[in-house]
Amino acid sequence: MEQTVVILFLSFFLAELLVEIVLNEMNLNYVRRESDRGAIPEGFRDRLTTQEYQKSVAYTLAKGQLRRCALVYDGLVFLWVLFGGVLPYLERLARSWDGLFPSGTQAIGIIFCLGVALIVAVLALPSELFATFVIEQRFGFNRTTLGLFFTDKIKGLAVGLVIGIPFLFGVLWLMDRAGAAWWIWAFLFIFGYQFLMVVAYPTLIAPLFNKFEPLAEGELRERILALTRQLGFTASGIYTMDGSTRSTHSNAYFTGLGKAKRIVLFDTLIKQLAVDQGLAVLAHEIGHYKMKHIRRMLVVTGVLLLAGLFILGLLLDYGPLFRAFGLAAPSHYGALVLFSFLGGPATFYLRPLMNFLSRRHEYEADLFAAKTLENGGPMVEALVQLTIKNLANLTPHPWYSAYHYSHPTPAERIRAIRQVHASSGSV
Ligand SMILES: [Zn+2]
Repeated sequence: MEQTVVILFLSFFLAELLVEIVLNEMNLNYVRRESDRGAIPEGFRDRLTTQEYQKSVAYTLAKGQLRRCALVYDGLVFLWVLFGGVLPYLERLARSWDGLFPSGTQAIGIIFCLGVALIVAVLALPSELFATFVIEQRFGFNRTTLGLFFTDKIKGLAVGLVIGIPFLFGVLWLMDRAGAAWWIWAFLFIFGYQFLMVVAYPTLIAPLFNKFEPLAEGELRERILALTRQLGFTASGIYTMDGSTRSTHSNAYFTGLGKAKRIVLFDTLIKQLAVDQGLAVLAHEIGHYKMKHIRRMLVVTGVLLLAGLFILGLLLDYGPLFRAFGLAAPSHYGALVLFSFLGGPATFYLRPLMNFLSRRHEYEADLFAAKTLENGGPMVEALVQLTIKNLANLTPHPWYSAYHYSHPTPAERIRAIRQVHASSGSV
């Protein structure tokens, strides 16, 4: 039976890897071909210089080439953890340390799960370092230093322990004690924990990594306040974040729940966009909220989580599953780790569906922004500016973007806005 499990797993795993590699190669070829034809999409012609376009192509190709290596490397890491004796070693280690902790603390399970997470995180470092200090550096985006990079990692590790230990304790305890319906209790616990994190993130976690300051008085602040009033959107504050300490890439987001929501604008975004365009970006974000996109995504992920936990419950005592990956006997912590590893290849095919849903939301939020500002122009201009400044890929392969992109391409978004706001999208 172990053999069947291994064969089944390997076929899913290799199928995923193959699809990823083929999509990446198709994308690279497509981008090269479009660049040779000089095929700048509509909406961007005469908006960027040949040099800027060539730079965005080079950036896309460099990232794709790293991805080619990273896919193989990550695949090997994955196989090594599952078949290279890592899991049984960690299990022995966790058992030998168990005596150091009082009984009932789920120490074996917590040490085992954290050990796996730590190994995976350390092995991910080479790709991250290369992406940040070679590729981002070469294209002028990187602002972080090796010192800051590793300080971030150490802080992240500390935060991970503070968040991870009670989380693992809760889930493992419920698996032990909550009886046959443990998976429903675990679902409620995980969902509740996520909400707690959403509340804790803006005030407790994010400030450990970045500086947040209330947005300075001025036109942008006044107009954002007017916009939130117009839309009946309550937020506890508008902040700028020093994103520029790490990268010149830009972004904007909301965090928190209910009346405690915060609007966060990267300092890089404020620098790159005119007031009208910044306002359009914000209206887009409020659109996600107003049209209940966030809630809908939460429901979808909730249903998937519940289904996943139910399946996990069915496999909990299935010995061959554990033996296939070197674990002598079924255990709850072993099940959690195997589940998180095997979940990827098993749900790989759901990703395009999730992205499809997300892309629909993006179109809706763009149109919401255009309608709110009674003009499609600023949203279009914001997309043009952000795409150029971030050197985004202007011509992804359609299959690649369908598979991987949670957002439609900028050209697609601009076309959609102009279809509705034909008269006003005159930029
Ligand atoms: Zn969006």
